Amino acid sequence: MNLHGKIVVITGASSGLGSQFPQSLIEQGARVYGLARRKKKLDELEKNLGHSFVEIECDISLEKKVEAAFKHILDIEGRIDVLVNNAGIGKFGPADEVSVADWDLQMNVNLRGVFLCTRAVLPAMKAQNEETGFGGHIVNISSVAGLLGNPNISTYNVTKFGMKGYSNALFKEVRQDGIKVSCCFPDSIQTEFFDVAGIPISANPMTPDQISSTLIHVLETPDNYLITEVVMRPLRPKG
Ligand code: NAP
Repeated sequence: MNLHGKIVVITGASSGLGSQFPQSLIEQGARVYGLARRKKKLDELEKNLGHSFVEIECDISLEKKVEAAFKHILDIEGRIDVLVNNAGIGKFGPADEVSVADWDLQMNVNLRGVFLCTRAVLPAMKAQNEETGFGGHIVNISSVAGLLGNPNISTYNVTKFGMKGYSNALFKEVRQDGIKVSCCFPDSIQTEFFDVAGIPISANPMTPDQISSTLIHVLETPDNYLITEVVMRPLRPKG
């Protein structure tokens, strides 16, 4: 896809990967709608990136908020070419100490949010395929925790394995509608994620701009060429 003039929606745009992706996409000529809860952070990004970035305050775990956000974007733009399901939360700890609130939080953001945003965009992408022969591209940001279980991250593992399953099923379901589905599995990245997760980050993580360059590559592939899964690792995580 040539990203010039394309409409992209990114969830979790207020920090980390989600605040880096818009810059890279705008450099390629896209217009980016960024969803997140922290308005102040979105305001800052809008100020830095200019009119090609549009902020939308939205908690992606809330059905009505998600429906309203996507309706708003479709009313203005008439189309959505790319959805990046990036928002995600990890709350780590021993399985017998995970609170119901932390279990629900991770399920609601990492799985329910992905489901709600994907469901909101699919009818538009199917209609775009009818019109132009190409529907769009959905990119899901899972994690290496979606490929391998590890001690103290069992709930997060459930959600990220779930994203892998959802992405794989969706890829098979909508490929004939001209809609690409890709799932990314990054290892440690230097973001705010570990402040929330409650564990220290590895000594030598990847950076958001490195992940962003791969996202651009995945999106810019020719229409009949789909990268379904990408695993990203630092070569020397211990430095
Ligand atoms: P981050 O800096 O903590 O960013 C997480 C983003 O998710 C924030 O913008 C946050 O925005 C948003 N978010 C959380 N709950 C939300 C909700 N209910 N509604 C809307 N947005 C919500 O972490 P990150 O590293 O960039 O994480 C991005 C993705 O990469 C996540 O899916 C994460 O699981 C995945 N990942 C990260 C790493 C890593 O090492 N950092 C590795 C593998 C995969 P608000 O708080 O403003 O809502």
